Amino acid sequence: MKSVVPSEASQKSFPEPGSGIPEINFRQISEESPVAIYTCDINGMITYYNRAAANLWGRSPELGTERWSGCKKIFFPDGKPVSPEECPVANTLKGDVSAGKQEILIQRPDGSVKNLMVHPKPLQDSSQKITGVHVTLIDISEQQTQHVRQETLSAIVESSDDAIISKDLNSRITSWNSGAERIFGYKESEVLGKSIMLLIPDSRLHDEDLILKNIRNGRRIHHFETIRKTKNGKEIPVSLSISPVKDKQGKIIGASKIARDVSYRWEVEEKQAMLSAIVESSDDAIVSKDLHGNIMSWNFGAEKIFGYTEEEAIGENITLLIPKSRLAEEKTILTKIRNGEKIDHFETVRRHKTGRNIPVSLTVSPIKDQQGNIIGASKVARDISAQVKAKTEIEKHTRNLEIINSVGKSISENLDLQGILQKVTDATTKLAGAAFGAFFYNNVDEEGESFRLFTLSGAPREIFDNMGMPRHTSVFKPTFAGKEVIRVDDIRKDPRYGKNLPNRGMPSGHLSVVSYLAVPVISKSGTVIGGLLFGHPDSGMFKLEHEEMVVNIAAQAAISLDNSRLFEQVKSLSDKKDEFIALASHELKTPLTTIKGYLQVLSKIEKDQMSELFLNKSLYQVDKLNSLVEDLLNMSRVEAGKLEFNLEVFDLREMLLDIAETFIYSTKNHKLFYDFGNVPAIIEGDKQRIEQAITNLMNNAVKYSPGADKVYLNLKVDPQSAVISVRDEGIGLNEEQQRHLFTRFYRAESTKGISGLGLGLYLTREIIDRHHGKISVKSKEGEGSEFLFDLPLKEPVQRAGEAAE
Ligand code: ADP
Repeated sequence: MKSVVPSEASQKSFPEPGSGIPEINFRQISEESPVAIYTCDINGMITYYNRAAANLWGRSPELGTERWSGCKKIFFPDGKPVSPEECPVANTLKGDVSAGKQEILIQRPDGSVKNLMVHPKPLQDSSQKITGVHVTLIDISEQQTQHVRQETLSAIVESSDDAIISKDLNSRITSWNSGAERIFGYKESEVLGKSIMLLIPDSRLHDEDLILKNIRNGRRIHHFETIRKTKNGKEIPVSLSISPVKDKQGKIIGASKIARDVSYRWEVEEKQAMLSAIVESSDDAIVSKDLHGNIMSWNFGAEKIFGYTEEEAIGENITLLIPKSRLAEEKTILTKIRNGEKIDHFETVRRHKTGRNIPVSLTVSPIKDQQGNIIGASKVARDISAQVKAKTEIEKHTRNLEIINSVGKSISENLDLQGILQKVTDATTKLAGAAFGAFFYNNVDEEGESFRLFTLSGAPREIFDNMGMPRHTSVFKPTFAGKEVIRVDDIRKDPRYGKNLPNRGMPSGHLSVVSYLAVPVISKSGTVIGGLLFGHPDSGMFKLEHEEMVVNIAAQAAISLDNSRLFEQVKSLSDKKDEFIALASHELKTPLTTIKGYLQVLSKIEKDQMSELFLNKSLYQVDKLNSLVEDLLNMSRVEAGKLEFNLEVFDLREMLLDIAETFIYSTKNHKLFYDFGNVPAIIEGDKQRIEQAITNLMNNAVKYSPGADKVYLNLKVDPQSAVISVRDEGIGLNEEQQRHLFTRFYRAESTKGISGLGLGLYLTREIIDRHHGKISVKSKEGEGSEFLFDLPLKEPVQRAGEAAE
């Protein structure tokens, strides 16, 4: 340290010599003082400083050369630099009365900072004139640091989410922060001085004794998890950290306690525990794997489904579970997972430890770390064997129902015996899952053989041809005589039939029958129509459900077979009737032609008026009779499929003109209105038959409109067809009548009094059909009818423009 040269003023001794008061050497006192003191002259030049000042500044300024302060860097407490003009010394010299004590910061040459309280005092001469400044500097750095620390601590305590509470050794609360208020619900004023027991539920009272014992022994308690009670009585989980509080002498006077509300953590832990329990108790396999497919976790469900224990599976690659043919799936799954995508209910197949394949439904989701990076995948695999089985079962039942439905429909619509039996045999063989099935028709054939093989399914007929008719054997008899169903899992082992196996007589390698099912088909009258027999080379193939299905169909088949038999009988009667009509009309035709010939000869001979009238009436009646017989003949030709046509190409429009002309001459009570357009309608057909069809419709129009007097005949030529319509304003037909109109011998009730055979429309439709046309009727009872039919044109009609080219 440099030698300090005190100023003249400071060298003065006080009190004055000779004042009687012992003289004090101020300079010496000042020099020894722990308080930093320095003086400046009127110019601010430092004139004196003591050791303490030099220590504080960290340097020793040269007296008489430096001004204001021994430290070069001075700041206001907020860090702003203090310029010489505004420093406390300058202000005091200026006579600034407000320049009292002031806090400043100085930075010492070594960089350290000190907080100073500056006390500048003006030095005045006897005339009160300021001659300099006397400055006391008090180092308040330590206080300041303490203060800041205190403030910081208070702020921390106040802003803490945790409850920070202190208490004395009698458990009385001595401080309480806002975290404590938030957690426990009490305000500071409500709890200060109260016992900490306030927060402890009865069940935990012993906690406090334990805590106090530790505290008294100077021990800290870390993260002690217990339960505390809030103001409204709610118990909450807390984690306590308790430290002893000591006085300056180190004596323990109480404890500070940090209570953290760990409800959330407990909840999370509870949830985790719950999740773990769920995972463990799940029937699904819940597995996690890393992004390379290595198994990281494995639950009990996984063990149950895939057969590997947790120990065996963890660390292995997930491909352990994937059948070779499906290995590519894992690549796709991992790619999706890396892209953050989820795979939902992906139905596939996985492999059991034993190598067995298991159908599973997979849901795979990415697993993310706290930063959201994908680190693996969780996979839930559900064994869907049962569903797959159920689905297959349902599909099987649906298929069976479809078969039953279609067989039921087709046999009920079918009257052909052979057709019905074949359908029934095919369908039941399929439904029973049989390797083959046969229907034995219980009929007596011409040779007196009462069992005749009728239909077969799944096996060539020759096999049964070689087999003969085993009707009297014990295996067949019950079906055809005893009327009972026989269902045997292994007929070879059945003592009832063992000696008479259905295999007997079969070529080797063919149709070995092990499973056997036989169902009789019984008619309504109770007679056995026949039997359905099924075989399979494996045992136990036919179950009760198969038996029930076959029995059901057999019952339906019985009805159809009964119908078919009836139909056969009716048909044969009807065939006989048709034969008779054909014969009778043919036989009638010959004498009629002869009578007409003689009448025509007679008409040429001269005769009186009366004879002329009778002759004409006879000729008219003969023509009518002839046309009736002709209709009958034609009908029997249609039925026999022998109605012949002579095709030629002609203009239908011309024909209609002729028909119209004849009609106008021959019809007295009805007026004809017609429109045939002006385009020819060239068709290919039997001219005579088509004329017959049109005339028939025209005659009906007249015949069935006795109260009306108009008939309309029109032709419309479309590009592809000619459409002819015949309309009347007569009695008309209701819908029911319209439905039956074209059946042979049908005559509407309402037209009873009008003569006819009910064959005209039947033949007309046959003629139109055979010409590839279509006939229809529009009619309203009491208003009239319109019959329309179309015939395809031989040459499509050219439009006016096209024809001109
Ligand atoms: P028919 O006239 O000999 O009885 P059709 O086959 O020509 O035989 O006609 C069958 C039945 O259809 C007739 O008996 C009649 O009841 C009804 N029918 C036919 N044409 C008409 C019509 N234009 N108006 C009302 N009913 C008709």
